[in-house]
Amino acid sequence: MDFLQELTEKEEWQRGRFEEWMSMDDLVGLAIHGLGRCENVCFSRSSSGEDACACVRSVFPTPEHYETYLHARSFFLESLAKETFAQFVSVVSEGELND
Ligand SMILES: [Zn+2]
Repeated sequence: MDFLQELTEKEEWQRGRFEEWMSMDDLVGLAIHGLGRCENVCFSRSSSGEDACACVRSVFPTPEHYETYLHARSFFLESLAKETFAQFVSVVSEGELND
């Protein structure tokens, strides 16, 4: 429960320092199943916020990946109702991040 370390890790993540890459399969899978969040009381979430919590940072290399996930997830939930899954996949692919 080190606040400084938590802050440092959050800022490093937000700067996108890590040159990791996330596959589209992973992103599509997450969009379909949803991101598992830490449960109940979470030190990281209370200090860094829901969108930069350690459970988010451990899955997404950068905030941009996380944003893409959020868009894909909400689009998926919409397309479930409309049964436009193929469209869903194409939208996710357009949001592909590979710099
Ligand atoms: Zn969390």
